[in-house]
Amino acid sequence: MNVPVESLSDLVVERVGFGIFVLDRDMNVLMWNRFMQDHSGITAEQAVGQSLYTYFPELPRVWLSRKIESVFQLGSFAFSSWEQRPYLFKFDHDRPITGGVDFMQQDCTFMPLTRDREVVAVCVTISDVTHVSIVQREREEAVAKLQEYADRDGLTGIANRRYFEARLRDEFTRWQRYGGDMSVLLFDLDHFKKINDQFGHGVGDTVLRVMAQRVAGVVRAQDTFGRFGGEEFALLLPCTPLEDAMRVAEKIRCTIADTPVEVQGVSVPVTASVGGAAARTGVPAYDVLINEADAALYSAKRQGRNRSIAFV
Ligand code: GH3
Ligand code: MG
Ligand code: MG
Repeated sequence: MNVPVESLSDLVVERVGFGIFVLDRDMNVLMWNRFMQDHSGITAEQAVGQSLYTYFPELPRVWLSRKIESVFQLGSFAFSSWEQRPYLFKFDHDRPITGGVDFMQQDCTFMPLTRDREVVAVCVTISDVTHVSIVQREREEAVAKLQEYADRDGLTGIANRRYFEARLRDEFTRWQRYGGDMSVLLFDLDHFKKINDQFGHGVGDTVLRVMAQRVAGVVRAQDTFGRFGGEEFALLLPCTPLEDAMRVAEKIRCTIADTPVEVQGVSVPVTASVGGAAARTGVPAYDVLINEADAALYSAKRQGRNRSIAFV
């Protein structure tokens, strides 16, 4: 059997799994394949000979006309990916609605058709990349979620030590360059071993969770509150002199001490000791600040606990 090559290419263009159509310089349609027909509901008979905008007035006219004109002028390919422009035509997609995209996501190529070195028409192809876009979006969401988890403490949900120290390092660098104020507070719950011993580790965990949430509720949005260790917490206060930081320390200490934690029918009284330190000339590194706050915290413990002390 001898099928002419020309009619074979016609068959391919009709059957191929992406959109193919051809435009002249005035945006009139010269060719329109089956994919375009099936997805738009506009037949080749209707489309050919008409301006593309007759049946698709919602197309981004300025952008598209400019794109086509540039191919005519430069004689080279042009592209548009779904990441820049999710779709050209409002075609339905066959993915479940759970994918979260409204229309078929499309990659487009604009190919010059030349005769005697002159561009006579532009062939546009439309590929359905809905699946790719959904997979990529899901991946980006998963990465964002992992990033979020990587910064949080599993028990309390507040910042973990790694994230806290990264923020402290950034803030300290900013302070070294621009000056101003910054302070750090360290908290340690008093006699927490006794709470564990008396009520059990599970109750201890709940106390930590409740305390963290309670304190998180009273700190300012621009401050970073993190779990530094077992029952130790830290608060970074940018743009805050030591005096103001110690007022915050007292506020938090009272927030902890004023109301016992109710857990499993028992009322657990909790207190905390706080040490504070502020950046000032001569402090060479952020971990020195932590050590100073820790020394102040140690003084608070020695002086009887349930108090806040500034490093001087
Ligand atoms: P101090 O007033 O001197 O701080 O006394 P303390 O008993 O709190 O002493 P210390 O800080 O040395 O001990 C902390 C205890 O906290 C030891 C550990 O069993 C307990 N702890 C640490 N992490 C957790 C945790 O995630 N859950 C529970 N339930 N307990 C923890
Ligand atoms: Mg303790
Ligand atoms: Mg401790």
